[in-house]
Order: sequence, then C-alpha cells, then structure tokens
Amino acid sequence: MGGNEQKYIDEVFKSNYIAPIGEYINKFEASICSYTGAQNALAVTCGTAAIHLALRVLGVGKDDDVLASTFTFIGSVSAILYQNATPVFIDSERESWNLDPVLLKEYLESCEKKPKALIVTHLYGQSAQIEEIAVICKEYGVYLIEDAAESLGATYNGKHTGTFGDFGIYSFNGNKILTTSGGGMLVSDNAEWIKKAGFYSTQAKEPYLHYEHLEYGYNYRMSNVLAAIGVGQMEVIEDRVEKKREVFEWYKEELKDIDVEFMPELAGSHGNRWLTTLLFKKDVDIDKIIAELDEDGCESRPLWKPMHMQPLFKENQSVLNRVSEELFERGICLPSGTRMDRNDVKRVCDLIKKGIQS
Ligand SMILES: *Cc1c(COP(=O)(O)O)cnc(C)c1O
Repeated sequence: MGGNEQKYIDEVFKSNYIAPIGEYINKFEASICSYTGAQNALAVTCGTAAIHLALRVLGVGKDDDVLASTFTFIGSVSAILYQNATPVFIDSERESWNLDPVLLKEYLESCEKKPKALIVTHLYGQSAQIEEIAVICKEYGVYLIEDAAESLGATYNGKHTGTFGDFGIYSFNGNKILTTSGGGMLVSDNAEWIKKAGFYSTQAKEPYLHYEHLEYGYNYRMSNVLAAIGVGQMEVIEDRVEKKREVFEWYKEELKDIDVEFMPELAGSHGNRWLTTLLFKKDVDIDKIIAELDEDGCESRPLWKPMHMQPLFKENQSVLNRVSEELFERGICLPSGTRMDRNDVKRVCDLIKKGIQS
C-alpha cells in the first residue's frame, strides 16, 4: 500500500456507505481518466470482467471470430469463450514480444471470415506496436480492445497503453503494479459504450422501480471500499513505475557478465517494467534455475505459456512464427517487487549464476 489507502477506507466506513456505487468509485474512475487521458472509465470487479463487458457491448457473439495475442495470460481471452465466440491467436514480434502487426495484416488480408475484434495484450508492462496495430484494425473494420492489465503507466509515443483502441482495460488484481486486492477498469473514448457497459455491469436493470428486464447483465461493479484503496494507489503510480524500472536496471547491471537477453523496450515506448523478464541461451535449463531460486525462497516463473500451446485451444486456429514458443522455452520472470533493494536483486542474481553453472 502507498500510504493513504487506510485513511480513505476509514472515510468510507465513517460514511457507513460501503455499498457499490459511492463517492470513491467516481474518484477512482476520474483519477484513471486524468492519469491515462482516457475519456470515460468504469470500475469493475476485475480485468477479466472489463474485457467481457467490452465484448458484450461490441455485440461479439457465437458466430464471431475474435483475434488475440497468443503470448498472454488466459485472462485476456477467457471472455471470448464466455461470449461463445471463437479465438484466433496471433504470434509475437521480437522488438516488444507482443502481437506482430505484420502477421495481423497478413491474416486479415487472406482470411475467409473477417474477425469482429482484436484483443491485444501489452505484456509485462511493455507496449505493443499499438499505433501500427490500431491503423490495421481501422483499415479492416476490426474493433480493437487493449488488454493493459499489466501495463498501467506504460506509454507509446507519449500516449498511455489502453487509450489507443475502442476499449482498454486495466487490472488491480493482487499481483499487478497497483492493486485493490481485486479489481478492474474499463476505459473508452465512447461515452455511450461505457454507459452501456455500466448497465450490463449492474444486472441490466431498466429504469423502473420494479426492475424491468429486456436484457440480462452481470454483477460486475466494483465496491466503494475497494475503490477507496484504488484512489490511494493511484497517488503512487508514478513512484511504482520508477521503482519497477530501477529494479530492472539493477538486474541488468548484476547480470551484465552473463549471456542473457532482457525484454526489449520498443523505440518510442516507455514501459512500466511490471516484471523483469529475460531470455537465457538455448542450452540453459530454466527449470534448474527456477528450482535454485525456489530453494532459497525466491519465487520465479517461466514466461506465459502461449495460448496456442494450451490444451484448451488445441482445435483453434493460430497464425504463428514460433517467436512466442521460443520466448516460452527460454524465458523467465524474476522477482520484481517494489520493496526490493539492491541486495535482494544481487541475491537473486547470485542464485541465477549458481543455477547456470551447476
Ligand atoms: C491479470 C491479467 C488479466 C486479468 O485481470 P484480472 O483482474 O485478474 O481479472 C488479463 N490479462 C492479463 C494480461 C493479465 O495479466
């Protein structure tokens, strides 16, 4: 926590208005808008719910294909299944490790069935080539949803990730750069869409006292208590980004003598370095390094297993260049907490060096 969260929660309790919809919801949404430059925001229970609402508002349904990054976390794509639509996965490029605009264009040029939307992920706090991707989506009439769950605070040519597409989403899950313990935010420059998403997020009640229903919705609205935490967290976002980037630089310095490749930063972009991630050379046994770290109480993980490699999606179509498979084979996420100091980073790096040698 940053400092003021407890105070804001106390204020919520003093007002005795802990129910959803309350003053802190409005404040949290307003702070996201003013920080990212998004025009409208809706605070919801989680990032996954925010993606689901975006697909629902755009009318994505069972006869639709939805394109998505294959190199991502399942939360990016599970809402496609909630809507009974069909995901089609697109591989990564090497400059940002995110969705390859060249493959995207090739697919849209040649596909028989035009997809309704694209969900592009800005992974590990690194912006995708989002301007190029946005232009392609416009050209082919494909809605663009940005999964910026991991990348709040990251920019591309000075503009925040999450604000280039028709919709953007952020997550405040426990592991993200900011957290409300659980939570999410849907943003869009289209006020009508955010209003509609708000309607679906509160059970699609028509405005009658007796709750008339023409459509069904969901119970996805964020609680005022968690929004109070979010308002406190937004006060420290810039400190968090700066600290995450510092931790990344420490890793780079500590590991400068061994042959590793850190996640690149795309020209013109400024990542939040949510997690420090790197690739080892082909002959390094990643499992052994993870075990070495684990033995000393340091948690690390392989990079996300691409969606097209998941048994769940074995029947799905994907457009591949093998980049994400190589990232998965050779990559690792390192401990990247903002409470880490230089010695913590050194300790992790000593264990990595030990793991490589053994
Ligand atoms: C965390 C995450 C999500 C889901 O967010 P929740 O708030 O946990 O539902 C979606 N996509 C990516 C890339 C994530 O890292």
